[in-house]
Amino acid sequence: RFLSFEGIDGSGKSTQARLLAASLRDMGQSVALTREPGGSPGAEEIRRLVLEGDPARWSAETEILLFTAARRDHMEKTIRPALDRGDVVITDRFADSTRMYQGISRGDLAATVDQLHALMIGLEPDLTLLIDIDPALGLSRAVARSGPEQRFEDMGLDLQRAMRSGFLALAKAHPARFRVIDGARPPEAVAADVLACARAHLGL
Ligand code: C5P
Repeated sequence: RFLSFEGIDGSGKSTQARLLAASLRDMGQSVALTREPGGSPGAEEIRRLVLEGDPARWSAETEILLFTAARRDHMEKTIRPALDRGDVVITDRFADSTRMYQGISRGDLAATVDQLHALMIGLEPDLTLLIDIDPALGLSRAVARSGPEQRFEDMGLDLQRAMRSGFLALAKAHPARFRVIDGARPPEAVAADVLACARAHLGL
C-alpha cells in the first residue's frame, strides 16, 4: 500500500498525486499524501537547504547524502508510521528521483545512489506511477510555474531528455512495480488511468 509518483519536471505528477489521494479518500480509504524532497519536518528543512541557495556549494556526492538523509527522515517519521497505521501512502517522488536526478545529472553516480539506498533506506514502493511526458512540454509547463525552488530546471532540455529515458529504462527493468502513464493528455484523462492502476493494485 505504498505508492509513488515519478516523472520529469512539469509532468503533472503532483496534480495526479493529489487527485488520486482525493479519489481514494472518496472511496473511504485512509490516505497519507506526502512528497520528496521533504515530507517530514526534518526533511523539509533539508529540502530548503538543497533547493534554495547556490546549488554549486554542494558536490554531487554531498547532494546525494543530503537527499538520502532527507529520505531517511521522511521514511522514519512519516512513511513507516502511516504504513503501520494501515494507510495507503502516496508519495510525490521517492528513491527513483534520486536514481535519476542525483544518479545521472552530475556524472554517473548510479552505483553510489544504489549503495546508499540499500544501506539507509531499503524500502521501495509497491506501485510506481511514472507520468511520462515529452521533455519540451514538461519544461515549458515547469518554466511557466517557475518559483524560487525551481533551480533544477536550469538543467535544460538535454538533461530532461536523459531523465525521461532513464525513467523509462527503470520502468522497463522493474515491470512489476512500474506503470507508465501518458501525461500529455488533459489531467482528468490521466487521472482516470492512474485511478484504474491504483484500484487494480489495491484490489478496490
Ligand atoms: O517534484 P518537485 O517539483 O517538487 O521537485 C522539486 C525540484 O527538485 C525539482 O526541480 C526536481 O528537479 C528537483 N529534485 C532533484 N532531485 C531529487 C528530487 C527532486 O533534483 N531527488
